[in-house]
Amino acid sequence: MALLQIKNLKKAFNQKVVLNDVNLDVNQGDVIAIIGPSGSGKTTFLKSINLLETPDSGELDFNAHQFQFNKISQADRLAIRRKIAMVFQNYALFKNKTALENITEGLIYGRHIDKQQAEQRALAELKLVNLTDKRDFYPSQLSGGQQQRIGIARATALDPEIILFDEPTSALDPELVGTVIEDIDRLAKNGQTMIVVTHLMSFARSVANKVLFFENGNILAAGSPEEILDHPENERIQKFLSAIS
Ligand code: ADP
Repeated sequence: MALLQIKNLKKAFNQKVVLNDVNLDVNQGDVIAIIGPSGSGKTTFLKSINLLETPDSGELDFNAHQFQFNKISQADRLAIRRKIAMVFQNYALFKNKTALENITEGLIYGRHIDKQQAEQRALAELKLVNLTDKRDFYPSQLSGGQQQRIGIARATALDPEIILFDEPTSALDPELVGTVIEDIDRLAKNGQTMIVVTHLMSFARSVANKVLFFENGNILAAGSPEEILDHPENERIQKFLSAIS
């Protein structure tokens, strides 16, 4: 059975349809890459799954519970968001908190873990992203790549069942992209279930077991990286890929 199912997800902003009846099954351990042109609804889709946007209609089945997107109680919303973490394009770190505090915040205030334990966990996560020596640095004292790796450490510290990455490398200088990709690769190899919106086709090809191509609020095609990226049947996808390569 799928870990998460999205059924008939629809979302419009000011009568403009942004997601048009989107369906997706996510299985345990899946790494799903989402590609597609700007404005096709990719970010709105991730935000809908994380309940940062409220879809107009559709169903979310998660952990064997079924929810109507537009009727989720506050308690269920919190419970779902505890299990589905999101990593943002622009890191979204607390500017007035250190690297360590950015990671402990959710553990202390969200999970009610005591401060000492939260710090221990945060230090273990910092070690995994090779930033132990930056524990007391503020975001403004860190490179974009380092900030993003703190963002990843903050997400993984919460032991989420699914992590959603929204263009995690697109705000980074090219030379900083590699370290962030390495961290996401490590999570994938450890079996972390993830959905990653990316414009890096080589990354999508190497990390994902399934690729979705979004266009105009629809999943135009879904399949293995070979099917979608190497041998796309759809002319629209062929054009998209040749335009960015
Ligand atoms: P992508 O991530 O594929 O670039 P988005 O999901 O960000 O696409 O946006 C899809 C469409 O929805 C765009 O036309 C965008 O302008 C519109 N949109 C996104 N968020 C909002 C919002 N909060 N209010 C109005 N329109 C929005």
